[in-house]
Parts: sequence; C-alpha cells; structure tokens
Amino acid sequence: MTIDKPHVIVVGAGIVGASIAWHLAAKHNQTVTVTVVAPDIAGGGTATPNSFAWLNANFNNARPYFDVRHRSMKHWHNMIDQIPGLSELARWNGNVQWQQDEADLANHIKQHASWGYKTEKITNDEVLHREPWLVETCLPAWGWAASLPEDGSIEPALAARTMIADACAHGATVREETVERLLFEDGKIVGVVTPNGPIKADHVVLAAGLGTVSLAAAVGVTVPVHSRPGLIVHSKPVATRLLNGLAISNGPHMRQTVQGRIIAGRHYSGGSPTTDPAAEAQVFFKKVQAMFRSDLDGLPCPPLELDFYTVGYRPDPEDGLPILGDSGKPGLTLAVMHSGVTLAAFVGQTLSDLVATGTKDKALDQFALSRFNKV
Ligand SMILES: Cc1cc2nc3c(=O)[nH]c(=O)nc-3n(C[C@H](O)[C@H](O)[C@H](O)COP(=O)(O)OP(=O)(O)OC[C@H]3O[C@@H](n4cnc5c(N)ncnc54)[C@H](O)[C@@H]3O)c2cc1C
Repeated sequence: MTIDKPHVIVVGAGIVGASIAWHLAAKHNQTVTVTVVAPDIAGGGTATPNSFAWLNANFNNARPYFDVRHRSMKHWHNMIDQIPGLSELARWNGNVQWQQDEADLANHIKQHASWGYKTEKITNDEVLHREPWLVETCLPAWGWAASLPEDGSIEPALAARTMIADACAHGATVREETVERLLFEDGKIVGVVTPNGPIKADHVVLAAGLGTVSLAAAVGVTVPVHSRPGLIVHSKPVATRLLNGLAISNGPHMRQTVQGRIIAGRHYSGGSPTTDPAAEAQVFFKKVQAMFRSDLDGLPCPPLELDFYTVGYRPDPEDGLPILGDSGKPGLTLAVMHSGVTLAAFVGQTLSDLVATGTKDKALDQFALSRFNKV
C-alpha cells in the first residue's frame, strides 16, 4: 500500500520561495511533495530581480542576526556545490568598503573581526591593487578601507529560476498562477485558491514577499512588513573586468554582474529614490562613471552607458529582522524578510526542516511573528 506524502505549497518564486522549494524537493522528497505557486516563476520573483544581491554578514548587526547571516553565507556555498548552474551565477571575490566614516569603519572592522568574520584594514594602494580601474580620488581621505574577503554576490533572479528548475528535477511541480486567497477550513489552512480553482495542501508556506501581507491578513494574521523602495542602475555589459569584487564606497555601491554589467545602488545598496527616479538614475549613473579611470596602463576604459534602472520594493519587517515560521494558524508558515538574497540559504534549510519533519532550529526563535504581539 502506498501512503500519499503530505503536500506542501510554497507561494512565491523569488529567491526565498525558490530556496524553500529546492530544499523541500531535494532534501525532503521522501517525506513531502512540493508545488510552487506564483505568477512570475519565469521572472524570478518580484523584489528579487531588482536586488543588489550582495551576500554578506557585514552590516550593522546584532550578534545573533550576524550569526544567522554568516551561517547563511556558508550554506550558500553548499547549495552552489549541489545545484547545477548555480556556481556560474555567484562570485565570492570579496568587498572593499568605505561607506562609513573613519571611526565607524574602524569599529566595524574590530567588531566583525572579533566575531570571526574575515575583516581587515587595507591601504588605498592595496584597494587599487585589487580594483585597479577605480580612480584614486574616490578612495577614503584617511588612506585606508575595509577588506571583507568573505562577501560575495549572486545573480538573484537567475539563481531563483535555477533553484526552481532543480527543485522540479527532484519532483516539485510549478503552477504559474496568482493565489487569490488561502483556503481556511475548520481552523486550519488547507490550500490556496487561484483563478483556476482550489489547490489542496497539507501545509502552505507563504514566501510571497510583500504579497504575504494581504494573503495573511485575509485569514486574520497581521504581518508587520513595509515596502521600502530602492533604485539600482545597470550599465550596458562591458567585456573588460572593471570590478573584481564589490566596491561599497561612501557614494555608489557597485559590483559587476556575470553578464559584465556594472550595477550600482546608493546607501544600503539601493537607497530610496525620489519621485523622479528616471532623472535620479541619470544623475546617479554619472557618479558611477566618475568612479572609474579613463584608462589603465594605456588600455582605455570601455564606455560605460546606462542601459536601464530598476526601482525595487524591499519587503521590510517593522523591526528589520526576518519573520519566519509559525503564523499562529495551523498549516501556515511565514517567510518574509529584507536581505532575502543573503538569508535565502538559511531560510530554505531551516524552514524546510521545520515543515517537512517538525525539527525546529533554535536560531528561528528570534524571528517568530509572535515577537510583535508582546505587550
Ligand atoms: C534595491 C534593493 C536592494 C537590495 N539589496 C540586497 C542585497 O544587497 N542583499 C540582500 O541580501 N538583499 C537585498 N535586497 C533584499 C532582497 O532582494 C529581498 O529580501 C528578496 O529578494 C526577497 O525575496 P522574496 O523571495 O521573499 O520576495 P520576492 O522576490 O518579492 O518574491 C515574492 C514572490 O511571491 C509571489 N507572490 C506575491 N503575491 C502572490 C500571490 N498572491 N500569489 C502567488 N504568488 C504571489 C511573487 O509573484 C513572487 O514570486 C534588496 C532589495 C532591493 C529592492
């Protein structure tokens, strides 16, 4: 006699939903069956394609949050080893950083180094040795920057699609549809309803980014998440490698994509655009162009031209920390956060374990929705 495995629906095909679906399908396919439901599976999600996609634990962190981010970065390496096509989308070439002033940067280095994150001071000359196309005048006036060799980046929308493709290779199913509402019967969530009708499930994971808020609210679950816009400019691809790793300056935050584009955002890798993002993108792109030398050892810098810009909306929980796990409604798990590109690996691993086997990683406790209900 065959016993049907419990059916899990993952709502959302951004980097977070893709990672959860991949972990469920690849690691727990003896225990559950998986369906991903989202209207933009081919596009790689909603916030995800508009992300700067810096993989880091190098932030104004409290220690427990730092530990989770660092752990997630390590798990990204495992996933990259296991998922065909992912290694071509990731770069682990480190970061040279001087977005803070001298005193803050020195404290930042001290704190992260003491937590076991590889972090050190390097002179402006050493920065230029690593990133020879940068103009000297953009470097810090005090003569040194931070070097963070563990930092990396990934092409986020392509990574989400690659993970979902591999989840399908492990038996997951996809439905390119919008969820109109969650099915709520006898006090528990038992599936979703799309324009094509109901899809029954034993468990639903809401990894729907900002879409999580309204879907959860309709079943009486308040998820305190705001949207915070961020502008990213994208150059046309250039064949020359102008940046080896990330350059997180006190002006543009920049990296070069695997397709050769220079992409850049401002403070916190995207800043907040004003009411005229098109004009702002033009002005900001000039600042990006000014970061590069006109030539290097006689080799002229290829023309950097603005191709397009994006305005993405970060799913930002009210206190800045992810909302993960129990929704308070049986059958419904939540996964909504900023820094979702960095955190997707940790979230996929821990929430798939929770949903498929009931095993709860201790690190999830700090991210429970219930923290907002304390008086
Ligand atoms: C400008 C900018 C810069 C950023 N920089 C970084 C960075 O450097 N590093 C980092 O780690 N993070 C960064 N982030 C944050 C990161 O991009 C997000 O946290 C992450 O992409 C969220 O992924 P997600 O899968 O949760 O959401 P999304 O990518 O928004 O995906 C949500 C999914 O849910 C689906 N969905 C929504 N509603 C429904 C519905 N009703 N029915 C079915 N499906 C639905 C959507 O269609 C989509 O597939 C940045 C974000 C922005 C905007």
